[in-house]
Order: sequence, then structure tokens, then C-alpha cells
Amino acid sequence: MRSTDPLNPTYLLIDKIAAIPYHYTMFSKLTTRTKRLYVQIAATIFTFSYFLAPVLKYLPCPTLTCYACPLSVFACPIGTLQHFVIIGIFPFFLLGILFLIGALVGRWACGYLCPFGLFQDILAKIRRKKFDPPSWLGWGRYVSLFGVAIIIPALTHEPWFSKLCPVGTLEAGIPIVLTALIKVKVLGRFATELSMLGWLFWLKIFLLALTIAAAVYIKRPFCRYICPLGGIFGMFSRVSLLQIKVDQYETSEKVDCKKLCPVDMDITKDPVSADCIRCLQCTKCPGVKLEKPIKLSKKEI
Ligand code: SF4
Ligand code: SF4
Repeated sequence: MRSTDPLNPTYLLIDKIAAIPYHYTMFSKLTTRTKRLYVQIAATIFTFSYFLAPVLKYLPCPTLTCYACPLSVFACPIGTLQHFVIIGIFPFFLLGILFLIGALVGRWACGYLCPFGLFQDILAKIRRKKFDPPSWLGWGRYVSLFGVAIIIPALTHEPWFSKLCPVGTLEAGIPIVLTALIKVKVLGRFATELSMLGWLFWLKIFLLALTIAAAVYIKRPFCRYICPLGGIFGMFSRVSLLQIKVDQYETSEKVDCKKLCPVDMDITKDPVSADCIRCLQCTKCPGVKLEKPIKLSKKEI
């Protein structure tokens, strides 16, 4: 029969749809850490999937992803913010989207969706002694946001955060320059072209190298001390629907929650900290739970 022909596209589609509950069950059995890794990989592939760019490039990405990257499908929220600051128009749409995300899930997108967050998580896997700088350095996110991404662009009419951003250098600056250089096949011309790259490019390379080196010794340094988008979402940590609850009576000193955390924080000390990227890995600790956003009374259940 035609409909049960295994190569029939309709049959294949029905087969795939029928398998969704099975895959969902298998996925829900994974540890939080593995689930998060799968979601991070899927989000990174989607963010750089190129073909959806004509549709989605008008939307700000919920993560710090460079607009100039040839493969990126979204607009960079911080690049868009600087653009509106420079032309002197209030960015209602952009801030509406960012505030909505912040109010719903706080920094969850940092934990699960951001490709540069995943990149730093991978660098943190390199076995080196990890340092935990003082927490006041977290104010650096707001210096980046209000100083480098708002006040300086307003005064100079140049998007200085984007000009220096290591994410932009990694995702757009280096690939664009490399593609241009590969086209120059003569070695002598290659060296000439390379020497023509201005001081700004080399400064960006230096900042990227510094970020990469720091990420080997400090867990997610860019997210904790520099990223203005992390600063925006962090402002909602206290009020967002997605919250982590700590029952101090159940916590145990035997389990090191800080060790599980990709930003080196101890959730039991401050469950609403703006540093927390809501990765949920610490829900493995006794007494630490994801708080249900909507509580149903016993009668409703
Ligand atoms: S704080 Fe880190 S994870 Fe969040 S948007 Fe910035 S770079 Fe990405
Ligand atoms: S405190 Fe918990 S939820 Fe927050 S970033 Fe650390 S491990 Fe993830």
C-alpha cells in the first residue's frame, strides 16, 4: 500500500511526529547538565543557520550574537541599542522584547541559548586552577551598558561597544578578514593586505585573546563582568517568573553547589543574584529547587 511505503514522504513525516513523545521521554531522563548542553548546541546551530536571516534579521537576538556575522540570523540587541542611541530615537520595540524576556526568565537565555556563553563553558573545561574574582566586578556589566553602549555612542556617534566587542571579533571580524585574505592567493600580497589592517582590528584581536585567556582561568568572565546584555537581563533576576528557591533547612555543606555552577556562585547565599544565569545545574543540591512560576492550590490540582 502506498501510504505505508517507508520511503513515502507523508509516511516518513507521520513516523517522525509519532516518535516525538518517545524522544521527549528520553530527553527528560537526561541530567540537567546534558539537557543544557543539547539546548546550547541546538540554539547555536539555529543562531548561525543563515537561511532564516531574511526573516529574523529584523528581530533582536535574546543573546549577544553579532549582526555582522555572515551566518547569523538575528540582529544584535546591543548593536541595535547603540544604533537608536546614535540616531536619537527611543527603542520601544527592542526594549519591549528585552524587558519581556527578562521579566519572564531573567538570565535564562544566558544559560541555555547564548553561543558565546557555550564558548566560555567549553574554555572553562580546560583543566587549570580557577580563580574567583571579587563579586563587585559584576558592576562592570553596567559600566559596559550605560558607559560604553549608551553614553559614549551618544557623545561620539559611534557604536563603541560593537567596535571593541570580542563576540563581534570572533563571529564576524576574523571570518570576514580571513575570507578576504584567502581570496588573495599571492603570498606577497597576503602580507601586504595583512599589514593594511588598522590598529582597531589588532586592538579587537587583543581584547578577544584576553577574553579567551581569562575564560580558561575564570568561569565565564565576559558574562560576569563585561556583557551589557547580561546586565539588562540581570536587572530582572529579583522579579522574573523563573526563580530558584532555597530551603536553608535542607541544604547540606557536604555538597559544593558552587562547584556545579558555571559562573562560580553559591546559590544558597543569594538565590536572586544578578550573576545567576538560571542554568539550573545547582538544583542537584539538597534544598535547591526550581520554583514553579504559577502555583496551583491543592484544590486546583
Ligand atoms: S552574559 Fe554571556 S551568555 Fe549572556 S548574552 Fe552576554 S555573552 Fe551571552
Ligand atoms: S547559581 Fe545555580 S542556576 Fe545560577 S548559574 Fe549557578 S548553577 Fe546555574
